Amino acid sequence: MKNFKKPNIIISRCIEHDNCRYDGHKISSDFVKNTKKYFNYITVCPEVEIGLPIPRNSLKIAFKNNNYEFVQNNTYNNYTEKIRIFSSNFLESITNVDGFILKNKSPSCGVKGVKIYLENGNPINQKTEGFFAKEVLKRFPNIPIEDEARLRNKRIKDHFLTKVYTLLDFKDTKYSKSIKELIEFHTKNKLLFMAYNQKQKDILGNIVGNYSKNFDNLIKYYELNLNLLLSRPPLTESNINVLMHIFGYVSRKLSKEEKELFIESLERYRNELECINIPIILLKSWIIRFDVDYLKKQTYFEPFPMELSDNSDLFKRDYWKE
Ligand code: SF4
Repeated sequence: MKNFKKPNIIISRCIEHDNCRYDGHKISSDFVKNTKKYFNYITVCPEVEIGLPIPRNSLKIAFKNNNYEFVQNNTYNNYTEKIRIFSSNFLESITNVDGFILKNKSPSCGVKGVKIYLENGNPINQKTEGFFAKEVLKRFPNIPIEDEARLRNKRIKDHFLTKVYTLLDFKDTKYSKSIKELIEFHTKNKLLFMAYNQKQKDILGNIVGNYSKNFDNLIKYYELNLNLLLSRPPLTESNINVLMHIFGYVSRKLSKEEKELFIESLERYRNELECINIPIILLKSWIIRFDVDYLKKQTYFEPFPMELSDNSDLFKRDYWKE
């Protein structure tokens, strides 16, 4: 089992931390409950920070004079300037953050899909981000940012966790200013990168391979391409290619029944009848049995703490398709 550092995650305070919603309640999230031991959570409630009480009249985004405004229902008080200034100052003061988890569809914290209303109270046929979330997205384009509701989906959850822990590990490599550490980082992540994006993985390999003394330039270019690689989650077919690639290292030493068992588990994964953990566990057991050192070190098998790999929602709806 690997040792993982604790990432610093900024979270909307109403998710599992405080009863600070407009109605005095908080939001329940299994993901946040399960990660409390693994993340350093830093909470923020933009609406309370700008001086609004709990409970309070709810707020909304209004479309007025060709602009979006942050207004309170019933009172129609306008808090646009206040939330803009708070968001900007708060995010300016953040120096070490590894990710954000923000409240779904909130006019302050919603990452996307937030309704916009006309003065007559009707919603328009367009959606946007909350005021605080908009500033987060602008200032941290490469840091993992997720909506708490989407984290109920296994694929999104695994992608978020993989990105958080890979970029946290990369931070140490970056500040080490050591080409040896960069080569080690790249080598242990090769299969993970292959699953994410084969083309980007090759670009990263070429960057490391063509090192010529200027580490600062090299690491900037590597980071840019690493962010591109991690911008989308791996496809099922890419994972299957990587699993087959790993299988190639051990298959000659396996019995006919073992090979059939593996191929069957891959088919079940392809057809969404089983999660990826089954073929991975089979491969891991053979890697240990045949002592394949290169594969033992690959992050692909455990890109984030194993205890966070929860498969209970495997058959829930896929938010990526929405
Ligand atoms: S969504 Fe954001 S602003 Fe609203 S209660 Fe939660 S933390 Fe506060």
